[in-house]
Amino acid sequence: MNYSGIGYDLHRLQEGRKLMLGGIEIPFEKGSVGHSDGDVLCHALCDALLGAGALGDIGTHFPDTDPKWKGASSLQFLEHARKLLSDRRLRVVHVDAVVICERPKLGPHFPAMRTAIAKVLGLTADEISLKAKTNEGLGEIGRGEAIACHAIATVGSH
Ligand code: MG
Repeated sequence: MNYSGIGYDLHRLQEGRKLMLGGIEIPFEKGSVGHSDGDVLCHALCDALLGAGALGDIGTHFPDTDPKWKGASSLQFLEHARKLLSDRRLRVVHVDAVVICERPKLGPHFPAMRTAIAKVLGLTADEISLKAKTNEGLGEIGRGEAIACHAIATVGSH
């Protein structure tokens, strides 16, 4: 039996912060504001994975009030979600995500992100699908003030 889960996240972008996305640092003049490393892609994927197992959401498992997660790499969230699924005898089959930002161009960074995500989820890079969109210059994303991500995960019973 296969199950699907959906995830979404958005972070504000600010100058002088690192832009972490899919577990890697992207060279850019702005970065996301967040308690952890602000990695929207990992956060949306984490919620999708938790959703597929009906395991609650990222805020339940990694509260931003917990100093343990301050500045944490969000790949750890994915690793933990994978473990929670595995405790329920569920394994990750596939993930797909759309990252929405005006800049920078993300395509050239996708191979490294897919490798990083695949490693923590126990998948191959082929099983990680990543896509990028702009917001056509509209709204806070279009003005470069925010970055967002939608994700879906499929898990299967062992
Ligand atoms: Mg987040």
